[in-house]
Amino acid sequence: MWKKTGVIIWMGILAAFAGKEMVIHNKTANIVHAVSTVDSITFKHTEGPSGQLNLHRDALVDSVAHAKIDSITFQETDCSNIEDVTSKVYFTFVIHNEEDDANGVPGSIPTIPDYNGNKAVFDHFAGAMMDYAKMLQKYGATLSFQPDWTFIEGAMNFRPSFFPDLEALGNVEVIPHAHETIVPLDSIYKMEIEAGAHPRKQIGGMTVGKYMQSEDWFNKNPGWSHWTGPFQSPGHVGDASPPPFAFRIPLPADVSETIDLYKHVASSPVVVTGSIPSAVNSWSSAKPTGAYISSSYWFEATRFFMAESDDQSVPAQWRKVPGNVRMMTSAEKIAKIETALKDTYLPLQSEGKLEFMNPGEVVDMYKRYEHCLDLVDGQDLSGYAK
Ligand SMILES: [Zn+2]
Repeated sequence: MWKKTGVIIWMGILAAFAGKEMVIHNKTANIVHAVSTVDSITFKHTEGPSGQLNLHRDALVDSVAHAKIDSITFQETDCSNIEDVTSKVYFTFVIHNEEDDANGVPGSIPTIPDYNGNKAVFDHFAGAMMDYAKMLQKYGATLSFQPDWTFIEGAMNFRPSFFPDLEALGNVEVIPHAHETIVPLDSIYKMEIEAGAHPRKQIGGMTVGKYMQSEDWFNKNPGWSHWTGPFQSPGHVGDASPPPFAFRIPLPADVSETIDLYKHVASSPVVVTGSIPSAVNSWSSAKPTGAYISSSYWFEATRFFMAESDDQSVPAQWRKVPGNVRMMTSAEKIAKIETALKDTYLPLQSEGKLEFMNPGEVVDMYKRYEHCLDLVDGQDLSGYAK
């Protein structure tokens, strides 16, 4: 009864019926990509219940792959409000922790706090992260929390309620960010789940070299997207900017240098939420005109939220040195960001020019409106390389 059908046929059917409802009697692994471009799906089992699915797309992919689904109805999103969707900048606050035990050697990166080995250090920084997330929540702002493995291990060792408490605030999305010297990305994703979080399958930054080596991984792991994309260099030195909007990057087999990433490939499963700088005075020139979904972010690393200068519980390295204006205590850092929120970002939100949204939700929105955007298969985006 079920026939195997290639992704090209699926995409062809989707293109032919763009904007209309369609019924497809079939099932294949490639449906994973086809369903990612539509808004709602009605499914019918050969036996058992029928109904409407409005699941998160990762869950949907799993349902489609594992259920005995006989026919599926696609309903594409209406494009009439696309101007409302694309005229805003989708903004979030981002945290990376990085790893201090590179290659599994404890303390091998002394500039990163010992999250998994020193309880007082973990307690200070975990407390700072909660305070930061709560301040953002008060204003309806979002936080994309992107831990590497040593911070997650610290939470599991010293404060098992950390991730459940963080997610319970409602404005935080946890996704993996891995330097992968020893713990690979999918292990970080699994550790986050083990630690009580509900991560999206979204990568919080990756080097272009790592991406090029990940051909097999991306083939075996459908459904992953990228926050900002694999434009980073090792150590984040001289990083190239991603194009200033969400699109689909070429798969690793078609990438041999960073510039090859600047191309929209409609059949690629890997969505990138390209971004523009956080400085709002550059937005009017950085955000391209046309139907594109642009996001932006304010980045901080956990270690920048230092302890008070007289806090003897943590090593001196993590205490603010009095009078050093470049160092900030956690309270000072949070107050500074709160001021920026009130003075800059909230007024833009009131004017309808900004919406707070985490990267995973930006990917969902991109997929829902993809057929309404000005992106064309094969589109050369190298003009945005900086
Ligand atoms: Zn990093």
